[in-house]
Amino acid sequence: MNAIAVKNSVTLETLYEINESSEEQIKAAFSNAREGFQQLKKTTVKERVEALKKVRDVIYENREKIVDKVILETGKSRTDALVSEAMGVLDYADWLIANAPKILADEKAHTPISLMGKKSKIYHEALGVVLIIAPWNYPFNIAMVSILTALAAGNAVVFKPSEITPLNGLIEEMMSASPLLTSSVNVVYGSGITAQRLIDQRPAKIFFTGSARTGKKILSQAANYLIPVELELGGKDQMVVFDDVNIDRTVAGCLWGAMTNAGQSCTSVERVYVQRGIYQAFVDKLKEECAKLVLNAGDDGGADIGGITADFQLDIIRKQVEDARAAGASIIAGGEMLSGELPFYLPTIIENATTDMAVMSEETFGPVITVSPFTTEQEVIDESNNTEFGLSASVWSKDLVRADRVARALEVGAVSINNVMLTEGNPALPFGGTKQSGFGRVKGVEGLRGMTQSKAILVDKQSDKLEANWYPYTRAKYKLFSQFIEALFGNKGLQKWIKFAVSGIKLESESQKPRG
Ligand code: NAD
Repeated sequence: MNAIAVKNSVTLETLYEINESSEEQIKAAFSNAREGFQQLKKTTVKERVEALKKVRDVIYENREKIVDKVILETGKSRTDALVSEAMGVLDYADWLIANAPKILADEKAHTPISLMGKKSKIYHEALGVVLIIAPWNYPFNIAMVSILTALAAGNAVVFKPSEITPLNGLIEEMMSASPLLTSSVNVVYGSGITAQRLIDQRPAKIFFTGSARTGKKILSQAANYLIPVELELGGKDQMVVFDDVNIDRTVAGCLWGAMTNAGQSCTSVERVYVQRGIYQAFVDKLKEECAKLVLNAGDDGGADIGGITADFQLDIIRKQVEDARAAGASIIAGGEMLSGELPFYLPTIIENATTDMAVMSEETFGPVITVSPFTTEQEVIDESNNTEFGLSASVWSKDLVRADRVARALEVGAVSINNVMLTEGNPALPFGGTKQSGFGRVKGVEGLRGMTQSKAILVDKQSDKLEANWYPYTRAKYKLFSQFIEALFGNKGLQKWIKFAVSGIKLESESQKPRG
């Protein structure tokens, strides 16, 4: 078994080691989860929600401990960790607790007149044992949001955290608040090798959050078993700024949206498009405010930007910026590491970048933005859609009609208008991408329903009647069916109902005749 060192992402000291999980451990995790699922099957949504409330309370009581652990493995600034990891999960848990019973309740469905006398219903049933694979950038938030959703819907879970930020034992500790959930959530540690072995155990569905590169591998492996997959992948989010905005506020939003979590957010702002009339004033203010940002980790809440969690990510950021510089882009702020040994990258602003540069076309996943001027609405729509990604975006303008028009034209899964990264701040909104940013949704009604399969139910109370479309097929019945179709689909208003009633009665009486 290969040992994987989990490092303090700031000092780079080894905190502890995890091992790639063995075949036996993987089989045991699935076997436990399948038993857990049998227990969950006997529960109502209300009972599961009661169990979730206990987990929510444990998260609330332990929020500072959670923040400490997350900071150690990610190098986030303390405020980033508190707001996005602890508060984000609590907010989502409360939404889930309040809404799951309604969203998962049996539904009545419309029954058409041609099926007179029947009733239709939809049940939203659990899938079974679902596999959740998570990345390192929000190790607690992404884990808990997916796991809580799966449990609310009645699924048991096998969860594989990133090998870079496994938060050893933390998820298990939160789940121990409820015996029902303890047996239903199985955390399996390891890298992509372990994840591939987990997929071979044929989970009912895979929920993956991570890079497009890994997403493609998962989809291809899952295809062998026809396992459904939801993919939450990377982004290259655009911020579109029209010339009627409050510049100070929009610059503040831009800097936060680009630099929060040191830019290691799938939805962080990476490309900023500013209308020419305010372009220079916007860039000047951006540069001025960017210089004031405070970099630190292990802070007491007073630092703005933390470290870069993964060393390979730091290499990607440095290479993209250096390549852009070499190709003629202007680095007007940052563009290098903070001096010293620590993995901090200075908040960076780039002008004159072009779409052939990686910094404009590939995900950067660091505290780096490009800023470009535009003239017309159509020009900015075309330019900002010119990417293979489509996760989220923001549009800034006092003209809300124009902002809405642009929001509709952007090829993304979410748009914040006059704010940034805020769609994911509302647990009631679905979260997910288009194009290479993936498919499927987490959160909101869609996210919860994505953890279920619908079962269609039709109840026929007239159990002593034969159906018109059952055997025997006869020439007489064929003619009556033709009249029935004509009555139903070829007429409108009162005529339709009169003809429908007449042909329906004839067809009905013909259908009750036994085979002669
Ligand atoms: P990654 O794709 O390298 O790894 C994600 C997870 O996949 C890890 O747990 C890893 O062990 C596992 N994995 C690796 N190889 C695998 C394989 N062959 N089969 C199955 N699993 C495998 O991503 P990362 O570097 O951890 O995370 C950063 C990426 O995640 C960025 O692209 C970011 O945009 C994206 N992300 C997306 C969202 C979203 O909701 N859309 C949210 C957060 C992060």
